[in-house]
Amino acid sequence: MPELSKKLTNFTDSVIRRMTRIANQHGAVNLSQGFPDFDPPQALKEALANVASGSIHQYAVTWGAPNFRKALAKKQSFFMGIEIDPETQIAVTCGSTEAMIASMLTVCNPGDKVIVFSPFYENYTADTILSGAIPIYVHLKPPYYNFDVEELEAAFQQKPKALILCNPSNPSGKVYTLEELQIIAAYAIKYDVFVITDEVYEHIVYEPFHHVYIASLPGMFERTISCSSLSKTYSITGWRLGYVIAPAFIIDGVRKVHDFLTVGAASPLQEAAITALEFGPDYYLQLQKSYTEKKDFFLKGLDDLGLKFTIPQGAYYVMVDVSEFGASNDVEFCEWLACEVGVAAVPGSSFFQEEVHHLIRFHFAKNLETLSSALKALENLRPLAEKKIWSKQTLAD
Ligand code: GLN
Repeated sequence: MPELSKKLTNFTDSVIRRMTRIANQHGAVNLSQGFPDFDPPQALKEALANVASGSIHQYAVTWGAPNFRKALAKKQSFFMGIEIDPETQIAVTCGSTEAMIASMLTVCNPGDKVIVFSPFYENYTADTILSGAIPIYVHLKPPYYNFDVEELEAAFQQKPKALILCNPSNPSGKVYTLEELQIIAAYAIKYDVFVITDEVYEHIVYEPFHHVYIASLPGMFERTISCSSLSKTYSITGWRLGYVIAPAFIIDGVRKVHDFLTVGAASPLQEAAITALEFGPDYYLQLQKSYTEKKDFFLKGLDDLGLKFTIPQGAYYVMVDVSEFGASNDVEFCEWLACEVGVAAVPGSSFFQEEVHHLIRFHFAKNLETLSSALKALENLRPLAEKKIWSKQTLAD
């Protein structure tokens, strides 16, 4: 048989989604792949039911139904503080996953370099490989995940085409400060580099932190490709509604790539989601309140169990330091945790370019009852870990 593409040898299937399969297999509480176990707002479900019995069932305009783009432009203009033209500056995609790969394919030629902060959401590796780009990693050092300005400038000096910015950040929970964003922006302008954002957690930020859209900084809209989605904001990860916002000349390119990748996002879902895009400011305050409650509840539980972690500033993940349990391999640790303790997490190494094997990621986008069952199960972690003999496998094996 002919060989498959060499590109496939450079990345694995998603470790996050693999952990979900392991969780299902063992009936573990799934705190690995980040998605809610609660419903979207009632008004949104009703809108979907109404659309289902109506007549919007064929393709929408490939880059997004006009009324969806109009509602999205209004909402994002309000939050981003930038006037966005729905006619020329938006492409609607199948989730932020497509938004990002379409953006990468739009700006990168094979061999172009792209700056990626490590730890990073695992899709960025596949995105760079599929678009032929070469990542330059800039390290965010645990437990505080700050970057070194000199290391960042050295990366910019290598003439990258783009920088990927996940803010609020998955998996670290970092929310970049205005000062950090100004540093990144100054280099992007000085070295003439695009910034591709992943801002799917834009509305999940904990006091006293605030999300600043890098596109809103002076001189940055021109070179920022803002990717996001409705998944996390409205608890509709299965609807696969994402988008890219950028200047018209970039959006022209993204629309072309998107047209041949997927043609378009589901038209009935775009129509129904307009209801969500028209929610008032109260909705976003309530969302923040509800996630703050989940975070406080879960972190207090982890703290009571004596576990060490970095307090997230945004998004819905927490990185827990499991070095005290003596496993040399976080993948083995997470598999054991799912099978024996009954809670699924993601091994931290799948997010780091560096050799980091002492962290695991839990998410807390779950009902308090679910989080409570996870904490209850984790009470057994220490007693079971004391009896566990870890494999002698070294990290080089
Ligand atoms: N962003 C989610 C996570 O990091 C997963 C998203 C997905 O699987 N598409 O867990």
